[in-house]
Amino acid sequence: MTFVADDWPVFWEEAAGANVRDADGNVYLDLTGGFGVALLGHSDPGVVAAVREQAGALIHGLGDVHPPALKVVLLERLAGLSPWEGARVVLTSTGSEAVEIALKTAQLSTGRPGVLAFEGGYHGLTLGSLAVTSRELFRRPFERRLYQGVAFAPFPEPWRGLGPSATECLDQVAELLRRGAANGDEIGTLVIEPVQGRAGVRVPPEGFMEGLSSLAAEAGVLVIADEVLTGMGRCGATFASELVGLQPDLICIGKALGAGLPLAACLAAPAIMDAWPESRGEAIHTSTFLGHPLACAAALAALDEAAAGVRHTRVVERGARLLDRLGELLSEIAGVGDVRGLGLLVGVELVERDGVTPAQGAAARVASLALEKGLLVLPAGEYGQVVELMPPMVVTDEQLDFAVEVLVRAIGQGS
Ligand code: PMP
Repeated sequence: MTFVADDWPVFWEEAAGANVRDADGNVYLDLTGGFGVALLGHSDPGVVAAVREQAGALIHGLGDVHPPALKVVLLERLAGLSPWEGARVVLTSTGSEAVEIALKTAQLSTGRPGVLAFEGGYHGLTLGSLAVTSRELFRRPFERRLYQGVAFAPFPEPWRGLGPSATECLDQVAELLRRGAANGDEIGTLVIEPVQGRAGVRVPPEGFMEGLSSLAAEAGVLVIADEVLTGMGRCGATFASELVGLQPDLICIGKALGAGLPLAACLAAPAIMDAWPESRGEAIHTSTFLGHPLACAAALAALDEAAAGVRHTRVVERGARLLDRLGELLSEIAGVGDVRGLGLLVGVELVERDGVTPAQGAAARVASLALEKGLLVLPAGEYGQVVELMPPMVVTDEQLDFAVEVLVRAIGQGS
């Protein structure tokens, strides 16, 4: 379990829209969006109806052998959303699994196993995905089990004026691509989040992702955009890559994709996916719940429910309002170093009195104070210094104002 405070957790019993009710009958405003999953809102009526109907017809299929027909419908729909003609899609149950598929695919395609990943990057905690996740806390006990052909480059951090600039980071990327991984493996893949989520909503500075895409293309390195958190509308576009100037060769999505059911996917152009050998018997990658009918039904309903254009406009508008209100009211408070975000992925960086040093553990204190007032938020960042906000897009003006009011007070008290 995650430990945040002695009075955590509260036990969720019911949720609708942006609200959650716990087992004691308390109602909260959920600015965690259920880890970013509930972009449409909790218990979206269209999703609930589709899952109910599907449950009456077929709950489980035979994934890669006799697949549920609905799986094909979803694959075609997702391929149509991708930036590539005739894209191929692999479905998985979790984001980490989607990252594993992307890593396997890229290795098959390039023949080079080495990977370039980024400091602060979070891609999951299974052994394959953990090897490209950079947080020391998660890695240390398992270090000897992790693939050692991963080189980590810095992610630009211009907002404190302390961290490396985009240019410095790009120089290091170029150097690492030339040198290869520490174990001697040549680098064939680069994996990056368009906006780093768990590292504390780190939005890349202008020019960084474009520069990175060029370096990768020059080196013949495939780019995996890990859009498990940022994708499917969270940042105001189907893929946040297009908003930050990243040109991916493979894209991982998850979270909002299944609208509450466990579903993720890896998308790529056919030329890359065709590196998987044609099956002459058993598939060399599969899983029991591949293309789970309930998850496919939920994902299709979510795609129907909010026509992409309407959804993106709403996310951009809600996100701008939240950022504006936070910026307006928090800029006066000493403990706030930065307020930043993209769409409905927003972070408030808490700092010490010097205005730059990350305030260790401050976000958990704020989250606890907010919980007492009926607001759910999560701490993020390597030092637990960032309050991460991922509201459902149905959040109202009144709810956003309430959230900002609670946060202003909690940050004043807790940081
Ligand atoms: N990648 C990113 C960017 C994520 O945010 C997450 C989950 N927080 C994952 C991968 C892993 O997804 P899951 O927890 O579904 O395995």
